[in-house]
Amino acid sequence: MRVTTEQVGDEDAEMARTGGTRGTALEDLIGEFQVSPPSMREALRILQAEGLATVQRGNVGGAVVHVPRPAKVAYVLGMILQSQGTTLDDVFSAMRLLEPACAAACAARKDRATTVVAKLADTIEESRAALDDPYEFMRLARRFHEELVRNCGNQTIMLLLGALESLYSVHVDTLARRPSRQGVYEDRAMRAIMHKEHSAMVDAIRKGDEAAAERLARRHLTNDSRPTTGVIGRKLPVRASILRDV
Ligand SMILES: [Zn+2]
Repeated sequence: MRVTTEQVGDEDAEMARTGGTRGTALEDLIGEFQVSPPSMREALRILQAEGLATVQRGNVGGAVVHVPRPAKVAYVLGMILQSQGTTLDDVFSAMRLLEPACAAACAARKDRATTVVAKLADTIEESRAALDDPYEFMRLARRFHEELVRNCGNQTIMLLLGALESLYSVHVDTLARRPSRQGVYEDRAMRAIMHKEHSAMVDAIRKGDEAAAERLARRHLTNDSRPTTGVIGRKLPVRASILRDV
């Protein structure tokens, strides 16, 4: 049974890798893998539970393969952190340790001008225009950090740290829709400082200065001069349900 599931899963994962989806009738799959109907149904049930396949019933039904989505990693991570009673501070601490390394990796990219710098520069422009709007500025500030991680060039870091970034962003976004919960973003002077720090990080990345990019990112994320009461989501327990529909 286990071997059967893995065989089906491996083949589907390969199709997902190449971006393929298909609707294959149950009878065809049973013939292809030479297994009994209950075994195939069990294999498909597991793939459905993992979000890798949907079984559609009826004449035009069959098994449809889905590409594994990075959002799934954030959701599973969220569920585990929630079960351990982890708070957002803890998630943010991990990001604070790992993001400077990402900034350095961005600066080390040979193709940085057309990849990460182009993406970050767009976000910088948009957030400059949103300086007077706390919620929009906060949203773009989170996007800045997500783009930094998403474009660092290492697939594994992009997936793992990217999951933490989206976990954190979704919580902050949900909270910050209420003006009384916008924390540090409520203050325009603070928004201007954050914008300046983001711009300096992009400049260091553009120049390919890995050490400066890392140092600026660390300083930006550990700036103790900011009012700690203003940190959004402080002591808030992680709730995986917020991520369910992302
Ligand atoms: Zn920032």
